[in-house]
Amino acid sequence: MASIVVTGGSRGIGAAITARYAARGDRVYFLYEKNHEAAKAVAEKTGATPICCDVADGAAVAAVFSRIPEVDILVCNAGVCWYGLLTDMKDAEWDRIFDVNVKGIYNCVKAAMPAMLRKHAGSIVTVSSMWGQVGASCEAAYSATKGAVIALTKALAKELGPSGIRVNCVAPGVILTDMCANVAPEVLEELSQETPLERNGRPEDVAKVVESLADAEFVTGQVLGVSGGFVM
Ligand code: NAP
Repeated sequence: MASIVVTGGSRGIGAAITARYAARGDRVYFLYEKNHEAAKAVAEKTGATPICCDVADGAAVAAVFSRIPEVDILVCNAGVCWYGLLTDMKDAEWDRIFDVNVKGIYNCVKAAMPAMLRKHAGSIVTVSSMWGQVGASCEAAYSATKGAVIALTKALAKELGPSGIRVNCVAPGVILTDMCANVAPEVLEELSQETPLERNGRPEDVAKVVESLADAEFVTGQVLGVSGGFVM
């Protein structure tokens, strides 16, 4: 039985990843920030262990991981978005999106490292976005964080490979979760029409790819798009 930690496992893509690992019999811990009801529902449905912890808070993350004896797979999925013109963005909003989407991964990887190094084994999957590959108008900060996630993944893959730890990344396209709740239905429809596979994605589409990438024993430093071909 493998020990899995999923950040942002209470909703959307993270909840699907949590459910997938729980269904295969792994011991799953998932972090979430504030939505206790959603976390409780995922825990009841899957048997996974919910942990309320802001990934941007390095001390809190370190305390959480110090109580998890083994981490075979770490999925850094927690993320937030911000939509609007860069000129309308406040400094605190810029800082927060980087604190969660980039520093959150730094905090979790650093905290998971002792357990993985002890075993000379481990697999980390980060969750970027296709906007981190090609950039999105009105999502400049979000795109910048997701580009940083890709660079961080590749750098860590080089740094940690000799220690038996693989690091890969998924770059989802439009996935129907709460994150898209403020996107107008006609815009979502247009996006699905621009997608070669002619639909928007489901959280399970990403969960399936995360699982196979995490298990691929001779793959590291790779970025796999899960966008129905929107970005190639
Ligand atoms: P979501 O439905 O909004 O869920 C976000 C999850 O992250 C929730 O479990 C949330 O916890 C958690 N979270 C947010 N901030 C956190 C923090 N500071 N500390 C701990 N947990 C935190 O989002 P999603 O669509 O599933 O997105 C998951 C990941 O995929 C994100 O990294 C996102 O950027 C990426 N992505 C999404 C799409 C898309 O179209 N949906 C596309 C590309 C990439 P609470 O429930 O407590 O708030």
